[in-house]
Order: sequence, then C-alpha cells, then structure tokens
Amino acid sequence: MLIPTSLLPADGRFGAGPSKVPADHASLDPRWIGTSHRQAPVKDVVGRIREGLTDLFGLPDGYEIALGNGGASLLWDAIPFCLVEDRARAATFGQFSAKAASAITKNPFVHDPEIDEAPAGSATLPTISDGIDTYLYPQNETSTGAMLPVARCGDGEALTVVDATSAAGGVSFDPREADVYYFSPQKCFASDGGLWFAVLSPAAIARIHTLTSKRWVPDILNLRLALENSRKNQTLNTPALATLHLLDRQLDWMLAEGGLAAMDARTTAMSDLVYEWAERTEWAHPFVADQYRSQVVATIDVDLPADEISAICRRSGIVDIDGYRGLGRNQLRVATFPATEPDDVRALLESLSWVGQQLSPR
Ligand SMILES: *Cc1c(COP(=O)(O)O)cnc(C)c1O
Repeated sequence: MLIPTSLLPADGRFGAGPSKVPADHASLDPRWIGTSHRQAPVKDVVGRIREGLTDLFGLPDGYEIALGNGGASLLWDAIPFCLVEDRARAATFGQFSAKAASAITKNPFVHDPEIDEAPAGSATLPTISDGIDTYLYPQNETSTGAMLPVARCGDGEALTVVDATSAAGGVSFDPREADVYYFSPQKCFASDGGLWFAVLSPAAIARIHTLTSKRWVPDILNLRLALENSRKNQTLNTPALATLHLLDRQLDWMLAEGGLAAMDARTTAMSDLVYEWAERTEWAHPFVADQYRSQVVATIDVDLPADEISAICRRSGIVDIDGYRGLGRNQLRVATFPATEPDDVRALLESLSWVGQQLSPR
C-alpha cells in the first residue's frame, strides 16, 4: 500500500533527530571542506555560529557559548566532573533525562543525585532542597514529547543545568533562568550530529574553573578546555566541518526570519496542527497532557497498529515518525522543528488520515 502522491508532503522528514536538513543548505564550497579547523576559513564559521547563537538567544553580557565534540550525551558525563560540586538533584520523566541523571549516579567522585521522577507523558521540575549545588532537568523530553518552561531552581549558589537538546532554537526562553543550556545541532538547528553546544552563565564558568583546578578531569570531558578552545573559535579536537556549515546556514535563516520569537511561533503553529488533528481523529490521541505538550516533538497514541502506519509512510517517503522504542507505546512521534514547512505538516496529517481509512475495520 502506498499513499497517493497528491497527498504527500514535499519533504517527508519528520524525525526528532537527525532531522530535516534544508536541501539548499547541503551544498558547500569543496575548497573549504577538508581544510584545517585551526585556520581562519573554518574559525570564521565557528565565530559566526557563536555570535549567531548569542544573537538568537539574546544572551546577557558575561554569558558564553562553548562547543565540543561528542554531542549532548558527552555533557551528561562532563556535568558530574565539571559542574556538580557534590550534590545534584535531577528531574527525570523519560529516557533522555534518566540518562543524564544516571551519568551522575555512575560518577564515583560525587554523591548520587536526588531524583524527582514524573511518569512518561508528564513532567516535573526538580524539588528545591537544602544542600543541593546543581539542579538538572530537560526543557523537552524527546522520548515522550513533554516540555517544561526554563526556570531557575533554588537561589544563591546552586546551578540550573538544562538539557535543551531538542528545544533549543525552536522554543523561546529567558537565558537568565539557566546556568548551562546545552544542545546538539541535529534537532532544531537542522544540522548534523557530533557536536555539543552550551550556553554558560558567569556562575557556571566560575564553577567550571573551581572544579577543574582541583579535580582530575579527562581532557575530552573538561569544560574548561572546551571553553578555552571555544573562545578561540576552535574545538579541543577535530570537529565535523559539515556539521558546522549546516548549522551556520540554518542560523542565518533563523535570524533572517525573525529570530527565536519567529521560530517559537512557527513550531507552536505546526505542533498545534498535529494536536488538533489528533483530537478530531477517532483513532488518534495526544499522549501528553495539555499543559506539558511539546511544541517541537508531538507524540500521538494510536488505536491502529503504529508499526504498520509508519511502515506504509516510510515506503511512501514519510520517514522517522515512529515512537521512541524504549517508551514501548503504540505511538507516532512527529518533530515540528523550525526547518519543517507548515504545509508539509498539513500534508503529513492528510496522509495519515488516508492511511487510517485504509487500516480501519469497515
Ligand atoms: C537527542 C538528545 C540527546 C542526545 O544528543 P546526541 O547528540 O545524540 O548526544 C540528549 N538529550 C536530549 C533531550 C535529546 O533530545
């Protein structure tokens, strides 16, 4: 069974990362790729990216952008080395936030973290309590499609560390509400994987300096080395140049379109289309309660076999709408990152309605 081509979106990539890369961004100068990341032509691109992110997020003075290799997952292991003084408290409500918390539990040099767990499909901020020096939570739990506003936890000395991997660039936030706001570029930034980026507040930078001067930290996890290299528009070791190029192109587009507010409006409008469709479709139901519904990753429980739906879609050119495997639900997951076209979301929903008609018992 194939979906009629008249219904199909022009671009069928709806994955939650890797995600759609605009076709015209993929072309690059063949004399640029394959050149040294320690020379001006590549360093200029890194510099533009750091400035572009500073602009896009409206960072206050003293906040800095650091980057390095390893993706957001690398930061999970860097956090207990470079940011947690001794006691962390983490909110978990899905696979990604659970992994971030477990990296602290596994680190032998700091206390096991306190954990505030909410069921999949819901969300919670960490509980404020005495003696905690670092709070952690995800802005958008990509495995379930639950989202929280970025809000500072505790006061005074404690740091607020936010995994913004799938939200950054698609959702408005106030940078003063976080000390570390980290992400990978293959989600809202329509680039490829391999790198991590982090917005660091002055308090986070101070904590990194203190801890890395008194502890052994493996170089690849050392955020002080990462920051020192970032200030020179470099990375500790060789980055994927194509990833930098694609991010640079997407940032240009985002800023030209009106910046973060415009991206926020765009992702909100597209995810609303998905949720409204699910609410009026008999066999589809939004998984996440209204107040936590993500505007960049929409999860939809279905009464028809999700595997069959996504297989028909894949054969027809609509890819990566499967639910997160580890969640184990009969579910579809649709990313509505900024690079996606609203018309393509409409076409996706028409295509899904058609598939539903074919699979529904008559
Ligand atoms: C994708 C994702 C990650 C992992 O990113 P990598 O670049 O693969 O390391 C971490 N956290 C969240 C919330 C994600 O969506």
